[in-house]
Amino acid sequence: MPEIKQELICQGIAASSGYAIGRICFVRHGESFYIEPSDRTIDESQVEVEIKHFYASLDAARNEILTLQETLRSKADASDVGIFDAQLLITDDQLLTREVEQMISTMHKPADYAFFKVVEKFVAAISVMPDSYIKERTADIRDVAARVLAHLQHRRAGDVQYDDQRIILAHDLTPSDTAALDRHRVLGFVVETGSASSHTAILARSMQLPAVLGIPADFMEKARDNDMLILDGYTGKLILHPTPETEAEYRRKMEETLVFFHKLDSEKRLSAETRDGFVLQLSGNIEKLEDVDTIHEFGGIGVGLFRSEYMFLNASGLPSEEEQFNTYVDMLCKMGREPVVVRTLDIGGDKLDQALQRYAEPNPFLGLRGIRFCLRERRDVLRTQLRALLRAGRFGNLKVMLPMVTCVEEVLEVRRLIAELQDELYDQRIEHALHLPVGAMIETPAAALLAGPLAKVVDFFSIGTNDLVQYTLAVDRTNERLNYLYYPTHPAVLTLIANCINAARRHNIWVSVCGQIAGDPRFTPLLVGLGVHELSMPPSSLGPVRRVVRKLQMADAELAAMQVLECETPEKALEISMNMLRSAAPEIAELIAPE
Ligand code: PEP
Ligand code: MG
Repeated sequence: MPEIKQELICQGIAASSGYAIGRICFVRHGESFYIEPSDRTIDESQVEVEIKHFYASLDAARNEILTLQETLRSKADASDVGIFDAQLLITDDQLLTREVEQMISTMHKPADYAFFKVVEKFVAAISVMPDSYIKERTADIRDVAARVLAHLQHRRAGDVQYDDQRIILAHDLTPSDTAALDRHRVLGFVVETGSASSHTAILARSMQLPAVLGIPADFMEKARDNDMLILDGYTGKLILHPTPETEAEYRRKMEETLVFFHKLDSEKRLSAETRDGFVLQLSGNIEKLEDVDTIHEFGGIGVGLFRSEYMFLNASGLPSEEEQFNTYVDMLCKMGREPVVVRTLDIGGDKLDQALQRYAEPNPFLGLRGIRFCLRERRDVLRTQLRALLRAGRFGNLKVMLPMVTCVEEVLEVRRLIAELQDELYDQRIEHALHLPVGAMIETPAAALLAGPLAKVVDFFSIGTNDLVQYTLAVDRTNERLNYLYYPTHPAVLTLIANCINAARRHNIWVSVCGQIAGDPRFTPLLVGLGVHELSMPPSSLGPVRRVVRKLQMADAELAAMQVLECETPEKALEISMNMLRSAAPEIAELIAPE
């Protein structure tokens, strides 16, 4: 009789909406890579290439471990750092490397197979030792071997090893790991760390992958590869070993949601206009050129935020001026006359990149991030990006936006650089845009408080609430334990947002919101009432937000916004916006916050 496992429910943080029902693929510290490679024979002519590939993979794994150690050291977690010392010794073990080399050259075995076999021989030898401490090192050996194997087989963390679609369960997924997930093989993912505004969550929404983050470690301990799991990305609920009744209930919910979204889809040609005629622009946030079409698929107008750093993450080198130029032109051509807002490289914080050789910082979110990094550390990279943007600007309605601005001087410095590059392009007889609108992201309290002076030097504002909340409330956006303090409706945050919108209106410049609240219907009545011109969001959020806007009365929303600004607690402020949502569009409220 097969064992019947008890249904287990767990509450995490809802990071990306949607349901997923399926079996688990457990990615535990790269363990899933550790599968015996197929036994093949290589040609004599390939031997040298394979040996080189073997050593390059060892180097890559070693560098990864060093970076990991560096990060841990900055978190002062000395005991964990020691574990990786042992792993480094394994990558340097000459007995092991020599044996692998020999197996490749004499037996003509490919590097991955030879490496696996030699490692397993070592593990077998250690396993029979009486010393339990040494025995336990087999896990370390397999862990580091998994890392090396991933490089040998050109795979990344999170690659799914199964033929069917799976739900990924992992301790952690970095933004680059997430970006590398194969959407066709992954139903959704669950991660122990992280919060709804981390970049891992943002990517999940863009990729339309249901995701739940911030899961208790004991739940992760109970889950196993191949176990059945239901993932509810609307509420953050997880159900391990669902009973047939629970599974049937969720399959029914999935069907109903599908029908509902199908209905929303039929409204995509309608403009985002309130009942009393106020028109908002609803645009899309994208990370990859391939996603640009999804904006039109969901009825959006223009790209409100192109996170250009994803061209750099996961790339083998820095994207050249020509590559970037082609990407921007492709995007502009697909958008016709609609605006395309490209944010300059926003590296730093939780988005690190090997190609840019960033060193670990003790406080990366307060470090050389965004425009600071570009102006201070890699001006060459910013120059290349701005040249590509200037050249592409002739092909459509292109705008450039600067991340992590904290003072007027940063904008002026970029403007001087743009003028200098325009002269350079002119001298080189290279065609380019004579006018490239420049906007500032308002994502630091400094920028929000300085909105008046900033409005005089930029063409538009885009309020990045993900970071604005983090920096205003001193709450690390990636830390699941601080989720209870991460409130976009905190009175301090709302005061800054209102200050920024008012300054934009006074100076007659465009103001958009591109943080995740722009795509969350709970905040739509509030943002509409505060008077933003544009909401930019993951394309899949466009349908629900459009429906809400179309059901609102601007006069009511303005009144509610005024009340919200008087609130002394985040809960009260959210309640006002939520009540308005419930009365204007109950079907949407029911979907995201069932009562
Ligand atoms: C933001 O901070 O709100 C934003 C849109 O930028 P990102 O999430 O990429 O930091
Ligand atoms: Mg930001």
